[in-house]
Amino acid sequence: MENTLSYAQQQDANDSLRAYRDRFFLPTFHENQVRYFTGNSLGLQPKSVGSYIQQELDDWAKWGVEGHFHGKRPWFSYHENLTEKIAKVVGALPGEVVVTHSLTTNLHLLMVSFFAPQGKRKKIICEAKAFPSDQYALESQIKFHGLDLATDLIEIAPREGEHLINEEDILAKIAEVGEELALVMIGGVNYYSGQLFDMKKITEAAHAVGAIAGFDLAHAAGNIHLKLHDWGVDFAAWCSYKYLNSSPGGVSGMYVHERHANRPELPRFAGWWGHDKSVRFLMEPGFQPMPGAEGWQLSNAPVLGMAAHLASLDIFDEVGMEKLCAKRDQLTAYLEFIIDDISNKHKDLCTFEIITPRNQAQRGAQLSMLVHGKGKAIFDKLSEAGVVADWREPNVIRLAPVPLYNSFEDVYYFGKHLADAIVELA
Ligand SMILES: *Cc1c(COP(=O)(O)O)cnc(C)c1O
Repeated sequence: MENTLSYAQQQDANDSLRAYRDRFFLPTFHENQVRYFTGNSLGLQPKSVGSYIQQELDDWAKWGVEGHFHGKRPWFSYHENLTEKIAKVVGALPGEVVVTHSLTTNLHLLMVSFFAPQGKRKKIICEAKAFPSDQYALESQIKFHGLDLATDLIEIAPREGEHLINEEDILAKIAEVGEELALVMIGGVNYYSGQLFDMKKITEAAHAVGAIAGFDLAHAAGNIHLKLHDWGVDFAAWCSYKYLNSSPGGVSGMYVHERHANRPELPRFAGWWGHDKSVRFLMEPGFQPMPGAEGWQLSNAPVLGMAAHLASLDIFDEVGMEKLCAKRDQLTAYLEFIIDDISNKHKDLCTFEIITPRNQAQRGAQLSMLVHGKGKAIFDKLSEAGVVADWREPNVIRLAPVPLYNSFEDVYYFGKHLADAIVELA
């Protein structure tokens, strides 16, 4: 690899996914070409989204309430348009997934069913410094059951002086807690460090002691080649607005393994959209859940958000996770090379430590770099130059080179702006 514009342009010329960049709106708010590296916070807008949403606005205008059963994609079953496509993205059977609500809502709905403490089996293992919404969700679930936060929520932190969680520590803790363990709930990819966990191993370890394994896949869906069904994961949820590019606050997906598909005895918070659809409009009392993930739906489909999601999933369907992940690894490796190169060249002024795993099998399209030096000042300079990245206290810059729309040239220019910032601040 080379830190030159010509090398980057050559890589772009050889990139089989290159044409997809033109299918997204790249931000235009800066006089420079914006270099967007925050697709892990909000994915960019596919240009096709407008026409998918317009279709629903037109059907609403033309049909009014009749749009539920008429129109191009009737709203009564609108979510079904998404099912097979999202199932492929997360490696699930179609009956194991459904798209609706928002992520934190879905996590709660799933925990109501799958965190049912009984006797001494009442503890949850999670990662330390999980995304705050997950921390609050877990805390409130513990309190909801009248349990003790200090003893019943067990957080696995990196070892002293390390940035990543040692997976052996998770597995050892699962074995140690053993029959007191009810649930393991971890982010498949940690939002801060970009560390990808071995969900298959963690699930097997949880099952070995009779516990349930659930994952928050906000940073994994559309980023990692997931195989939720084959890995035996019990449940999972994710949002669609990060790597899945499906509009701010857009709809969430949830997954429930088929072994739980027909368990009407599971505790659940029910709503009419989870009720057997053949008799839903009889409006009778007595909840009969739909089999599979659809049985966790509460409300009728938020169609406009789903239309954005459908537009985006059609792109994922065209590309497939395999090709996407191949480019992801090349682009992320190039960013890694550029950061290391600049860190070496300027080691007297400022160095960068990539805290994300160096091993490609343990990460997706994110590198988190710890700045040893004037981190915030460098970040501000990058922003002034039109680089959109993410700053995390105390000294970390998170970058997501997204394979669908980021280019090698973006990565090269990120490096150039980074080097310029270091020299200017010296
Ligand atoms: C982005 C993210 C969320 C956000 O939850 P919402 O309910 O969509 O606001 C939650 N958890 C994780 C791990 C995330 O990365």
